[in-house]
Amino acid sequence: MSGSGDSGSFGDVAGDRYDVVIIGGGPAGLSTGLNLVRARRRVLILDSNRPRHSATLVSHGFLTRDGVSPLELRALGREEFAGYPTAEFHQGLVDSVTPTASSAPAASPSSSSPTSAGADDFTITSRGVRGSADRVVTAPVVVLANGLAETLPALPSIRAYYGTSLHSCIECDSFEKSGQPLALIGTTADLAERAVLISQVTDDLVVFTNASPDAVTPAEEAALAGRGIGVERRPIADVVGDRSGLTGVVLEDGTTIPRTGGFVRPLWSVPLDFADALELAVDGEGHVVVDDRGATSVPGVYAVGDITPPGSQQLIVAAGAGARTAAAVNRHLLGPLL
Ligand SMILES: Cc1cc2nc3c(=O)[nH]c(=O)nc-3n(C[C@H](O)[C@H](O)[C@H](O)COP(=O)(O)OP(=O)(O)OC[C@H]3O[C@@H](n4cnc5c(N)ncnc54)[C@H](O)[C@@H]3O)c2cc1C
Repeated sequence: MSGSGDSGSFGDVAGDRYDVVIIGGGPAGLSTGLNLVRARRRVLILDSNRPRHSATLVSHGFLTRDGVSPLELRALGREEFAGYPTAEFHQGLVDSVTPTASSAPAASPSSSSPTSAGADDFTITSRGVRGSADRVVTAPVVVLANGLAETLPALPSIRAYYGTSLHSCIECDSFEKSGQPLALIGTTADLAERAVLISQVTDDLVVFTNASPDAVTPAEEAALAGRGIGVERRPIADVVGDRSGLTGVVLEDGTTIPRTGGFVRPLWSVPLDFADALELAVDGEGHVVVDDRGATSVPGVYAVGDITPPGSQQLIVAAGAGARTAAAVNRHLLGPLL
C-alpha cells in the first residue's frame, strides 16, 4: 500500500486497521498526517472535500505561500502526504466514531509500527464522496480536524461577493482592502472590536448591525464614532455590485450606501454529530476542549485546527497545530518510553 489517491486500493475493504485515522483533510489534518507518516505511522485521512475557504481564490499569510490559491495549497499538502508509503487519503464523509474497547493487536502486516497494546480502539465509518467507497476502519487514535461550519448573514446576494469583495478573516484579507470604503456586516457582540481592527486599513468604515440588538452597545457606538467609524442600525435588504465587485449595501428603506468591499461576521459552529458517542468536552461555543498537545477529554482522541478554541483562525495556525499534535500522537502510540 502506498500513498493513494481518492479511493485508493482499500476501497472495498471493511475493518481495516490504522495507527491513526484523521477526520478532515484541510491544513490541520494534512499537517498532522504528514508528520505522522514521517514517523512511519500508518495513517488514513478521511476527507469530505468541502473546504470552508473554497469561496476564495487567494489566501494570505502562509509563510512561503502568501497569495496562493487555497485549493492549490490543499493539493500540494495532499501530494506531500501521499508521497509516503504508509499514507492513505480517502474521500469520505465520516458519519460515526465509536469506542470499541478492543485490545487486539494491529491486524495488518503492512503496518509499519506497533501500537500500544491494550489501547481502546475506535471504529470510524464513512460514506463515500463523489463515487468513492464507503469505509469502516479502526484505529487506536483518532484526530478530529474537520473544521468549522459557517452561516453567512441572510442576504440574498451575499454569496456572490463572499471571498472576493467580502471576507470574514480580518487578519487574512484586510491589507488588500486598504483605503477603500468598507462595510462590516454582522449581528454579534464582537462587532465593535472587529471594526476597530478593520479601521487600521481604512478611514471610511460603516458597521451594519442589520437591526440586531446584540451588536454594538451605545457606549461602543460612541467609542467607534471617536475613531471615525459609522454605525448603521437600519435593516439590510441586500448587497449589490457589478463586474468590478461590491458597489453598495442596500437597506430595507431603499437607501444604498456605497461600499466597495468589507467583512462579514458569519456565525460559526462545530459539526460534531458524528462523534456524539465519544461525549467530548466542549467549551461554551462548542469548540473541542484540548490541552496544549491537542489531546481531548477522551484518551486516544485528539483535535486540531479551527474546531479547537478560539475557533476560526488561519491556515498556518491550523497547520502548526497539526505538526504539534502529530508529535504528541506518536508518543501516545509508543506508550511509556522507559
Ligand atoms: C472565505 C475564507 C477565506 C479565508 N482566507 C484565509 C487566508 O487568506 N489565510 C488564512 O490563513 N486563512 C484563511 N481562512 C481561514 C482558513 O481557511 C482556516 O483557518 C483553515 O482552513 C482551518 O483549517 P482546518 O484544517 O482546521 O479546517 P478546514 O480547512 O475547514 O478543513 C476541514 C476539512 O474537513 C472536512 N470535513 C468536515 N467534516 C467532515 C467529516 N464529517 N468527514 C470527513 N471530512 C470532513 C472538510 O471537507 C474539510 O476539507 C479563510 C477562511 C474562509 C472561510
